[in-house]
Amino acid sequence: MTSTDPTPSRVLVLNSGSSSVKYQLLDMADSARLAVGLVERIGEETSRLVHTPLTGGDKRELTGPIADHGAALKAVSEELAKDGLGLDSPQLAAIGHRVVHGGLKFSAPTVITEEVMAEIERLVPVAPLHNPANITGIRTAQSLRPDLPQVAVFDTAFHTTMPEHAARYAIDVETADAHRIRRYGFHGTSHAYVSRETAKLLGKDPSEVNVIVLHLGNGASASAVRGGMCVDTSMGLTPLEGLVMGTRSGDIDPAVTFHLERVAGMSTDEIDTLLNKKSGLVGLCGDNDMREIRRRIDEGDQRAALAFDIYIHRLKKYIGAYYAVLGKVDAVAFTAGVGENAAPVREAAVTGLEELGLAVDGELNAVRSDAPRLISPEYARVAVAVVPTDEELEIATQTYALVRSGDGASGAGA
Ligand code: AMP
Repeated sequence: MTSTDPTPSRVLVLNSGSSSVKYQLLDMADSARLAVGLVERIGEETSRLVHTPLTGGDKRELTGPIADHGAALKAVSEELAKDGLGLDSPQLAAIGHRVVHGGLKFSAPTVITEEVMAEIERLVPVAPLHNPANITGIRTAQSLRPDLPQVAVFDTAFHTTMPEHAARYAIDVETADAHRIRRYGFHGTSHAYVSRETAKLLGKDPSEVNVIVLHLGNGASASAVRGGMCVDTSMGLTPLEGLVMGTRSGDIDPAVTFHLERVAGMSTDEIDTLLNKKSGLVGLCGDNDMREIRRRIDEGDQRAALAFDIYIHRLKKYIGAYYAVLGKVDAVAFTAGVGENAAPVREAAVTGLEELGLAVDGELNAVRSDAPRLISPEYARVAVAVVPTDEELEIATQTYALVRSGDGASGAGA
């Protein structure tokens, strides 16, 4: 870089899954998105890269085999270069990685060192699906730009403020500690962003408000946030606990698993697949897309109606539980695919909770918008809000703040 080059302000955000990489390139000088894209079916013959430049030019789609994450990132880099946004640019300040499990050690974004990698690796047994993919994504990005700071932003970080009485399962303490079994929570980047944006919507500082955040996507979780700090969340050791989700059961009696083993003769892996992939809405009615479920309900489909009712019943139980945990609630915020788009879910979730000060205004609830907004009537004691989540912006913001502060080690606190 010459002395005339401006301060690097671009951040590449990478969300690496086992067979996919989602990416966004942002310019943090004005938080503008420069490009977004996705590589999916990595390792198959039918891999696909969809790249959308946001600085001009058309969306591009490439199909054909992409062997591994290294090849995927190389292809992404080539697409970015065609728009003059190549990863070799001196304008790139850092790469921010979504890392699903940070355990108890990482309560803040952290510049990735070999020590940090070793800890992410150590957590593989509690996040066997996610952390290995995140590690591969980081290694690949490091090989592409070894000179750049790589920052890990952990899905669990926001929940590390949960008090011990919310985080511990009521099981034998020695066994729990030996195997690091406790409630960690996930979707933390979203819960942090949405709770802060909700405070903003109310014209208050996050420290002044108590918010129940309902992140309802294909995966779904609720959190109770007191004065900007998470005090409880519905996901636990893994993202299986809590709400009814697209394909995950959420809460069940743990004895169901012994029963399936002893009586149905299922293996641990089969039960894992059943509860993670064949349960939730898809298990109940065959569909996990809320649009399709609503369409079927409108046509009088009883199975879809029951699935919807089970989903809402669980959601209501968590709203009630977190109301009790917080004591006083200023806002309930809906976010993610279902929360942002499905007005019937929002309405059904608060119906009957008027005594708790919760209500939804039908007209406001029906408005479709990408903007954060209130959907409760003016008289309601508790604000009900729709706040679109933006995990990539949050990861980029945290990554950029960390590298600008020049304090790489500060995040690795207990
Ligand atoms: P996410 O995981 O946040 O991307 O959310 C994905 C889910 O959001 C899908 O499986 C759908 O159930 C739901 N969804 C997306 N768009 C809509 C919509 N317009 N109406 C209802 N549900 C939607």
